[in-house]
Amino acid sequence: MKILIAEDDTTSRLLFAATLRKLGHTVTAIEDGRKAWEAWQKDEYPLLISDWMMPDIDGLQLCRMIRSEPGLQYTYIILLTALDSKGSYLEGMDAGADDFITKPFDEEQLAARLRVAERILGLHQTLHIQATRDYLTGVWNRASIMDYLQKELKRGARQDTCTSVMIADLDHFKRINDTYGHPAGDEILQEAARRMSGVLRGYDRIGRYGGEEFLITASGCDWSEAMALGERICSSISSAPVNSRAGEIDMTVSIGIATGCGSVEDTGELIAAADQALYQAKEAGRNRVELSRLAAGSRSRTWR
Ligand code: GH3
Ligand code: MG
Ligand code: MG
Ligand code: MG
Repeated sequence: MKILIAEDDTTSRLLFAATLRKLGHTVTAIEDGRKAWEAWQKDEYPLLISDWMMPDIDGLQLCRMIRSEPGLQYTYIILLTALDSKGSYLEGMDAGADDFITKPFDEEQLAARLRVAERILGLHQTLHIQATRDYLTGVWNRASIMDYLQKELKRGARQDTCTSVMIADLDHFKRINDTYGHPAGDEILQEAARRMSGVLRGYDRIGRYGGEEFLITASGCDWSEAMALGERICSSISSAPVNSRAGEIDMTVSIGIATGCGSVEDTGELIAAADQALYQAKEAGRNRVELSRLAAGSRSRTWR
């Protein structure tokens, strides 16, 4: 496990770090609360072991700061304390600590408390996956991809960059279900998600928007780059039939794209434009990519 230690006392810090490394953990040991806060913001640490008494930002403050930033990953916090009164435990728990270790620490007790932490973090991760992923295909679910799109548009507005959104809708999917059965349809959805994920770049994301519709966000991508990506997605889907339990099944996809640049922050507007382009792709014969007419036609500040 990746563990962050914040402890101003050098002897104690080195001892903790050595013990945790011996237990097989990856440790970053830091000598004050402010630097620990900076390290926590830069990287993901599932576990923080923090001293209570530290100059500048103390353990309690650090707890509160971390809890006020609900990140994707939960940080389990163990406070180190020489104090052993009921009042301080309550204060620590109210600040967001999950557990306490009194100094000097007992190695077996530390190992046992880490096992508890791992158990809780495991449960948290399971819940997190269930809440954010699509059960059938494993890509992001609708709420997560929409949330991400919103954030990317905000970032694009701040940095004056473009974000493209694509709606990819499998062609004649009802026919596939009707011909080969619903389980085969499910296999097609899974394979489609796999193939599309395979051609995306690092900053692109894909989520299941509805039944056989996927939403793809392409950050920092203007309309021409988005068109190229759309074409790659289209070919990845149609390149080879899917080997399903019901036999080989051909599939194709139609994609509508809209690109929001600079001040565009309205996800609804962008998705409606992509949806309109998707409709055109279907009308034009399917298995193709269309760009929102708003996007293609004008060079205005908002749509490029
Ligand atoms: P078009 O080319 O115009 O998009 O036609 P289509 O048949 O793909 O579109 P339509 O909206 O008529 O049908 C979508 C079908 O997707 C209907 C629905 O039963 C099926 N579907 C939705 N969710 C699932 C799912 O999770 N599994 C399976 N197997 N089918 C699903
Ligand atoms: Mg201290
Ligand atoms: Mg559809
Ligand atoms: Mg369809």
